[in-house]
Amino acid sequence: MPAKTGKSRPDVGGIGISNPQRVIDSHSGATKLQLAQYYLAVGEWLVPQLAGRPLSIVRAPDGVEGDSFFQRHCGRLKMPHMKVLPKSLDPEHARLIQADSVTAVVEAAQMGTVEFHTWNAHSDRIDRPDRVVFDLDPDPELPWEKMVEATGLTLDLLDSLGLRAFIKTSGGRGMHVVVPIDRRSSWDCVNEFARGVTVRLAKESPERIVAKMGPKNRIGKIFVDYLRNQRGASTVAAYSARARPGLPVSMPVRRDELGSLGAANRWNILNAHERLDALEHDPWADYGSTRQSLSSRLLASLGSR
Ligand code: ATP
Ligand code: MN
Ligand code: MN
Repeated sequence: MPAKTGKSRPDVGGIGISNPQRVIDSHSGATKLQLAQYYLAVGEWLVPQLAGRPLSIVRAPDGVEGDSFFQRHCGRLKMPHMKVLPKSLDPEHARLIQADSVTAVVEAAQMGTVEFHTWNAHSDRIDRPDRVVFDLDPDPELPWEKMVEATGLTLDLLDSLGLRAFIKTSGGRGMHVVVPIDRRSSWDCVNEFARGVTVRLAKESPERIVAKMGPKNRIGKIFVDYLRNQRGASTVAAYSARARPGLPVSMPVRRDELGSLGAANRWNILNAHERLDALEHDPWADYGSTRQSLSSRLLASLGSR
């Protein structure tokens, strides 16, 4: 009997995976076991992105074609490796969760989690965001070159403000531009900055970029979504899979790779290792050592033009 149990629940990093052969994506034929194995394999890359940050998970227990659920707490799920954060961080809701280990990640995958999203702050200083995210959302009809162009415009503006940014594919349709900042700014300040950047972009390139949400506003354009910077908002983590056909992953890239990617879902859980194994340099290697602030002078310069 134990042999049978062992076979039906293969061990992935210490977690037994139930229904391992269940196909969770008919597009690629990928199984629940393969997703868990992907997460174990990218743990070294993914866990630093998740550790210390409140987490939202997207569960798709019936696979990517079934219903999916956003969830910021354990609910009824048994995830003993998931850290449960103090109630004070979000007093009106169930206690927030945090994945600080690959075991917690695989355990969540065992519970039907496909996506991992994080806040722009660490839980130890929840009122001080440490990054700004611009989520570039295209009119789905636009060719990839337009996304390349809009990403370039965003990076150019940030450059001119003296800010270093790091980019990743969303795994879906667009790009995410991430600006690490020191933990001196309030959420209000970060929001003001993010909105200011988007408004400036839309003003300087009105034919390409729009600062207003909604599909009608972005016909033929790209919405630079700055709204992902409010307290409690989250963005999919780098190296997370997406609950979309093909199980694509959000992948950090270099700026000079943008033109040749062809699509934001270029990598998925079955081929991501080819890229990661072949990388000579981590495109985000300098992320951790980037020290920069949203100074009041910077905010004023954005507001004044
Ligand atoms: P795409 O490139 O296809 O736009 P995306 O991940 O950027 O992929 P968006 O719809 O633009 O998808 O959403 C941006 C982020 O907003 C998500 O990564 C997610 O963290 C958050 N988000 C989106 N929808 C929800 C939701 N229903 N509840 C909570 N957060 C959400
Ligand atoms: Mn987006
Ligand atoms: Mn968006």
